[in-house]
Amino acid sequence: MSDNPTSFRTPWTTSLDLERKLTEQRLFSEQLELLGTAVHVAGEGIAILTPAVEAIGPRIAFVNDGFCAQYGRSRDEIIGQTPITFGIVERHQAIFDALLHHVFEGRPFEAEATARRKDGREFELQIQLVPVEDGGQLTHWVAFLRDVTATKTQVSLLRHQAMHDGLTDLPNRTLLFDRLDKAITTARDTHSALAMLLMDLDRFKEVNDTFGHHFGDVLLKQVAFRLRNQLHDADTVARLGGDEFAILLPDVGDANGAATTARNILNTLQQPFVVEGQLLEVGASIGIALYPHHGLDSRTLLRRADVAMYTAKQSQLGYSFHRDDHEPRSADQLALVVEMRHALERNEFELFYQPKLHLRSGIMTRAEVLLRWNHPTRGILAPGVFIPIAERTGLIRPITDWLLNRALQQVREWQDAGAPVHVAVNISAKSLLEQTLPSKIHMLLEKWRVDPRFLKIEITESSIMADPAHALAILSLLQSLGVRLSIDDFGTGYSSLTHLRQLPIDEIKIDKSFVAGMTTSDADASIVRTVIDLAHNLGKQVCAEGVEDEETWRVLRDMGCDLAQGYWISRPVNAEKLMQWLETTAWGLSRS
Ligand code: C2E
Ligand code: CA
Ligand code: CA
Repeated sequence: MSDNPTSFRTPWTTSLDLERKLTEQRLFSEQLELLGTAVHVAGEGIAILTPAVEAIGPRIAFVNDGFCAQYGRSRDEIIGQTPITFGIVERHQAIFDALLHHVFEGRPFEAEATARRKDGREFELQIQLVPVEDGGQLTHWVAFLRDVTATKTQVSLLRHQAMHDGLTDLPNRTLLFDRLDKAITTARDTHSALAMLLMDLDRFKEVNDTFGHHFGDVLLKQVAFRLRNQLHDADTVARLGGDEFAILLPDVGDANGAATTARNILNTLQQPFVVEGQLLEVGASIGIALYPHHGLDSRTLLRRADVAMYTAKQSQLGYSFHRDDHEPRSADQLALVVEMRHALERNEFELFYQPKLHLRSGIMTRAEVLLRWNHPTRGILAPGVFIPIAERTGLIRPITDWLLNRALQQVREWQDAGAPVHVAVNISAKSLLEQTLPSKIHMLLEKWRVDPRFLKIEITESSIMADPAHALAILSLLQSLGVRLSIDDFGTGYSSLTHLRQLPIDEIKIDKSFVAGMTTSDADASIVRTVIDLAHNLGKQVCAEGVEDEETWRVLRDMGCDLAQGYWISRPVNAEKLMQWLETTAWGLSRS
């Protein structure tokens, strides 16, 4: 051996190679083992599948411990099975089909689906299938199967938090807009209507200031609970912040449906709340905008519901629908609002008077008081221009106070001058529903020493019908003072006969639109005749307004109408001109 160094060298080299090879193999198998261990201890399920061959689908050739643990199955139960073992639930059949489709086409696949364990429990599975190739040939699939239930729960929790109000757990503004947009799309497709209600509590700030924020929070939670209970599953109640709530009614049908829901909400909130042993009463105001009538997109609907809510609050009507004339349309109108605030101080308002005559005798029984605004730059403005704005902004209240005082002062002055003129004053819905109106009027009658019979209040039919019960209460109080009452613009609203019979009114005024048409339109003439008969049957007087010619006057007299007023007799004039008119006219003044 020693004399043949070459023969000696070769086996030595060979044994070295062998050793290296053995070492490499050992290392490789060690690495494999390590890899195997790693695969087994991996938190997720790992499976190796055979590729699909012709019609034969893939089979599971290997699974790690994680896989067995995930499904609660032993390795024996799994090996050789099809991917059905991944447990994708029936309702996610489409995902399973897609998986097979990809495997047959040799394309990688990734999806999320609910899967079922052996014991039937479900979990959220994230599955990834990666093809393994050798020399361009697909040899295996490796499947990674992760249980993402916890992450999903976390994500859905975060999503919930992002879409809901933390205090009441009601949907927030984001979710509301999302649902509103969807509801609008559906309503457009199905040609149906939906309603957006915006509500805020009437005395919430007071509650917060008096009892503290914690107290306010508890109250808001109770409000949220009552709102939720009042509505259908398909409806959405959202809290937009503070004491502001929004209600989306996707299947409202029509305005009546929205009004009914609004009334139900107001009723349920009217029941007192008990917060920490404290009895609390909080009212609410609701503004309503309807799709498609009041707006075609979510922003417009919400904005209009907002303005309507403001109107409802100002008018104390409880709820109010959007009306086009509620929107300050132009800079011009906004300027008027500002200027109106100063008009009272600057004494720019003036009372005009229009005589109301007894048709048979031609004697003036009363003068209707009609407001005018002597605007410094625009000239004399008629109430149609500024009364609606005054009602919207709440300025109607001081204006009415001023007007009542001024009118009764005028009655006193005329009486002192020997002209006992009775007056009729127009009162808008908002002022009518003010609790203090009767006591204010009582005080002013005393102040100017005016007999209550000298004052008549004209209220439009629609403002009574806005809240008949409330109106009835106030009108009864006014009647008990001895003040006379009249329903204005009769025929333009929707009063029920029952209400009409109950109301303590003395007079019904036929709207001038019917009077103007009565000599040319048979329909108008028969409406006028019907209202006259109706009034008489109820024991009320009836007055026709808007008499513009002698023929109308004559026909009205023949129909038995009691009173008339109109341009043909006299236009509305200021106090001084009214006295001149009385002195010069052929008509007389009742001195009864
Ligand atoms: P109204 O109570 O129906 O008053 C009658 C309106 O018809 C008055 O318009 C009057 O000028 C007008 N008029 C009188 N005779 C005729 C006629 O023969 N033909 C025609 N075409 N019109 C006639 P005005 O003064 O512009 O008042 C409009 C409305 O504004 C009133 O309707 C009333 O609802 C409201 N209003 C007027 N003054 C006041 C007020 O002091 N307070 C409140 N809240 N509303 C008022
Ligand atoms: Ca009137
Ligand atoms: Ca009228």
